[in-house]
Amino acid sequence: MSSFPARVIATSGSRCSVDVGEEQPLRLSQRRNRQAVLCGDRVSVAGGVIEAIAPRRNTFYRADRDGDKQPIAANIDLALIVISSEPAPTRDLIARYVIGCADSNVEPLLVINKSDLFSDYEAFLSWLRETTAVHEIGVQWLAVSAYQPASTHSLRERIEGRVSMLVGMSGVGKSSLMMALKPGVRLTTQEVSSAHGKGKHTTSVTTLYPLNETTALIDSPGVWEYGLWSVPPERVLAAFPDLARYSDQCKFNDCKHLGEPGCAVRAAVDRDEVAQARLEAFQRIVRTLPAKALWERRS
Ligand code: GDP
Ligand code: ZN
Repeated sequence: MSSFPARVIATSGSRCSVDVGEEQPLRLSQRRNRQAVLCGDRVSVAGGVIEAIAPRRNTFYRADRDGDKQPIAANIDLALIVISSEPAPTRDLIARYVIGCADSNVEPLLVINKSDLFSDYEAFLSWLRETTAVHEIGVQWLAVSAYQPASTHSLRERIEGRVSMLVGMSGVGKSSLMMALKPGVRLTTQEVSSAHGKGKHTTSVTTLYPLNETTALIDSPGVWEYGLWSVPPERVLAAFPDLARYSDQCKFNDCKHLGEPGCAVRAAVDRDEVAQARLEAFQRIVRTLPAKALWERRS
C-alpha cells in the first residue's frame, strides 16, 4: 500500500485532520496505542491511518491540572505570547511562558495587543515598565492593535515563512489578531464530542491555519493560566537573565538561589545591582513548580 506525506492541522482527542494539499482536509482517527499526533506534525498516511510521525524539531508544552507536561503542538518556530493591558497579565505569567518556551525549545516573541487603548507612546512605555518586566526578562516584544491593521506590519514580517503559535490569557485578543492576520478565517474554537458517561464533554481543538504557502498560525484555545511542569529549577533562569549573570559565582554549584549561603545572586540584590522584586519573582516561580522538580537532583 502506498503512503503519502501530510501535515496535521487539527487535533482533538483521538481525532485529527491532515492537510493533503487539497481543499478539504482528511479526517482521521488515530490508531490506539501509538504515539499521539500533534498539530504541526509531519506524518505519513496510508490506508486511511497515520502510519508514522516524522521526528519533531520541538514540542510546545503546558502543564495539565496535575502539573504534568502536556504536549500541545509540534514543529513550532515562534510562540507569540499575546498580552494586553485589559485584561492585564497575571503576576509572573510572561516569565512562565518564557520558561515554558525555553524548556520546549521554542523561540518566544511578546506581542502586546490593544495598543489603541493607550493615549500615547509614553503612557504605553510606563505601563510596560511597571507591569511586564519585559526589559529584565530579555524577550523581544512588539506592540500591535488588532483593530488597526497597519499596526500589524512588523508582526507580519516576524511571522513570515514560519509556523507560529498564539498563546496567552483569554480576552487579550488572540482570535481578533488571527482575524486581522487572516481575514475571513473561521475559527473553530471548541468542539463538543459525544456524550461520555457523565453528560457532555468539551474538547478543545488545536488548529493550524495556513496564511500562505510557508506561513502558518496555530491557535490553541482553552488556556486559562499557563502552568509549568517540573521544569528543572535552573531552567527558570531562562526568564531571569538579570539574575543568571551572577549565578556562576555562587559558592555551591547547585545553588538554587533560595537562601543558600554564599549565593551570588542574593549578594547582587544586597548591593542593589538587581531589584529585590526580581529575586522574589524567581523564588516564587521555583517554589510553585510541581514538587517533583525540587526532589530531582541533577545527575
Ligand atoms: P481571545 O480570547 O484572546 O481570543 O480574545 P478576543 O479576540 O476574543 O478579544 C477579546 C476582546 O478584546 C474582544 O471584545 C475584542 O473585540 C477585544 N479586542 C481584541 N483586540 C483588540 C484591540 O487591539 N484593541 C481593543 N481595544 N480591543 C481588542
Ligand atoms: Zn545562588
